[in-house]
Amino acid sequence: MSIDSLTALVRTIPDFPKPGIQFRDITTLLADAGGLRELVDRMADVARPLDPDLIVGIEARGFILGAALALSLGKGFVPVRKAGKLPGRTVGIDYVLEYGTDRLEMHEGQVPDGARVLLVDDLIATGGTALAAAQLLREQGASVLMALFAIDLPDLGGIAALEADGVAAAAIIA
Ligand code: IMP
Repeated sequence: MSIDSLTALVRTIPDFPKPGIQFRDITTLLADAGGLRELVDRMADVARPLDPDLIVGIEARGFILGAALALSLGKGFVPVRKAGKLPGRTVGIDYVLEYGTDRLEMHEGQVPDGARVLLVDDLIATGGTALAAAQLLREQGASVLMALFAIDLPDLGGIAALEADGVAAAAIIA
């Protein structure tokens, strides 16, 4: 499947979750068997040469793509969740949003010291979420080989922000 056909499977919903936002919705791509296969294959082609120890996915759509990628590469999957969702002892990081702050958490000890991880989410906009997740992983002693996304919104500069922070980053659809 061509990159144009893959891109066409993503729909844009105006004014979600608030007026003025053009929300890029990947559920249409996920529902298409060929599109899902193509996206995961393309992500796996980028990730495979890095040979990560673990795939780490960011809530919530990073779980879908991260788990598919983990299976495809034969690796384990670790979720990074919003605050208060994980049942075990957690480690976390607070980060600043446009309005207010948010918090990401993961289970303590699930990413071992020295692990080489691939970070996955559906979309990178400003990069704030992925930067926080990468920082949390580094605090656990992990090295983030790459942050990989299905979609980049290049005008918002997220990939550049990650790379400025020393995190290699790539997206399949820009
Ligand atoms: P950032 O932190 O500004 O890079 O925003 C990225 C985070 O917000 C990711 O977890 C995305 O899933 C989510 N997000 C932001 N905009 C969109 C969108 O248009 N579609 C889907 N998810 C989005």
